[in-house]
Formats: sequence, C-alpha cells, structure tokens
Amino acid sequence: MSLAGCGLCKIERPLQRSHLLPRALYKAVMKSYFPHDPAPVWASQSDGTVLYANKQIVKYFLCSQCEDRFSKNGERVIANECFRNSFRFILQQKLMNSELSGKFNTQPYYHPKDLENIDSEKYKYYALSIIWRVTATGWKNADIDYLEGGLSPEYSTQIENYLLGGDPPNDIYITVYVDTNSGSEITPFMSLPSGGLVSEGHFSFFVPGVKFNVYVGEEADKDVSKEFSKQNTQLMFFLHDFKRMREYSEMKHAVTYELRPVGKLAKRQVTKHSKI
Ligand SMILES: [Zn+2]
Repeated sequence: MSLAGCGLCKIERPLQRSHLLPRALYKAVMKSYFPHDPAPVWASQSDGTVLYANKQIVKYFLCSQCEDRFSKNGERVIANECFRNSFRFILQQKLMNSELSGKFNTQPYYHPKDLENIDSEKYKYYALSIIWRVTATGWKNADIDYLEGGLSPEYSTQIENYLLGGDPPNDIYITVYVDTNSGSEITPFMSLPSGGLVSEGHFSFFVPGVKFNVYVGEEADKDVSKEFSKQNTQLMFFLHDFKRMREYSEMKHAVTYELRPVGKLAKRQVTKHSKI
C-alpha cells in the first residue's frame, strides 16, 4: 500500500492494488470454465490472443472508497448478471422475458425505461468506469498502452464527476449486446478494452456473454447519437447472436485452439486431451 493522491477522488489516502478489469469478473470467467481453478481466461482484441493466466492487470491507483464505489455501483451487478454457467445467465434471461422497445437500424432494442427488472444505471456506470480506468492512467500492458490519454479533458472530467456521484456526462452513448445463444454454446471470456476515439470512434470490450460499445461525443456515430437522443437514453440493450459477430468468432477460435494453459489447468488439459 502506498500513500498518494487517489486517481479518481484525488484525495491523499492509502492506495489499493486496483484492477483494470474487476476481480469479480475474473472469478466469473474462471468459474464458468473450471470451478476453483485460479487461472482465468482473458482475451486481447487487439491481437486476437487469448491466454489462461494468473496475471491480472493491476496498479496502485485508487483509494478504498473509490474501489468501493466501483464495486457497488456497477461491478457487483455485472459480475452477477453476466454469463456464469450453462444454467445461469441472468441478463439474458431478463431480456428474453422483456418486451422489445423498438428497432434501431433493423436491430430490435430494449430501452432501459421498459426494463423494470434491470438496473441499467449499473451497466452505464460500469461501462464508463472501465473506459475511464483504461484512459486515465498507464497500465503497463502493450495491448492497451495506446489508450492512455484517449479521452479529451472535457470528457474525462465529466466522467470523473459522474463516477464520483455527479451528473452523467453529455453525449456519451452505450450499446450493450447480450448473446442469444444457449448456455452450453457460449464461450465466456473477457477482453481488454479496445478501439479508441481516433481509430474507431468508440471503445469496446467483452465480459462473459456481453459486449459493451461506448461512443464518446455526438460525432462518434451520428446514427447512434441521433437515435439515442430521440429516445432520450444513453444506453440500450440488444440481443445478438454472438456467433455472427466477427470479433467474437476470432476470440472464440483463439480461446478454443490457441490458448496456452498454465499450472493446474495445463495438467487438466493434458488429461482431457489424452482421452481423445
Ligand atoms: Zn478515491
């Protein structure tokens, strides 16, 4: 533990070993594969690699109060409702039991106002907390180094205020895609954030069974900002067949065929393969 200004609230407090991607999510992925194994799966969208690794991306960055904010305002709900195993994918279940709100570019969507049983604010907070984390500081990881400083001061200040309990930032739009496939067909993984405003106009990342896109600024995607403004929302949910998503297929292929197992997992893989 070291004492310095917290990355978010700026108050001088003991800093925690903060995770770029929440520990609760690592646990969700890890349990969905092999119960109790300490090696989670994570995928890197930038180079399509997937690793089983104990390595989590951490740095002394936030105070315990801010860690707690992140946990209770987003991470806990997302970790609970994302794909956990073949029998438990609460977000998918909730959407499938809800009425569609309308269509956007032929894609049916669910508007948060029509989803009484989904706390969409938590999804918004979570998405913005990840984008803020990856842009606000360096994490010493080659896949995401280029995202440091990837938000203009205007947006990073607005997002910081929001994460600290203030009003939501202007002109930020979030699409949340939820896999429609049945539990046994879902390959759960999480990815590091990728994209960025310069290259793609938005950031994106996966948690098990769910993909987030975060558009920053009205110009990022005019269709999105126009439709979302018309619908008076900053977030929409979509059900989507992930098998038809190119980047998902690439990562699934990598998870299935190119993974490099380590430790206990490696032993299990050998055992498993030796039966074939
Ligand atoms: Zn703090």
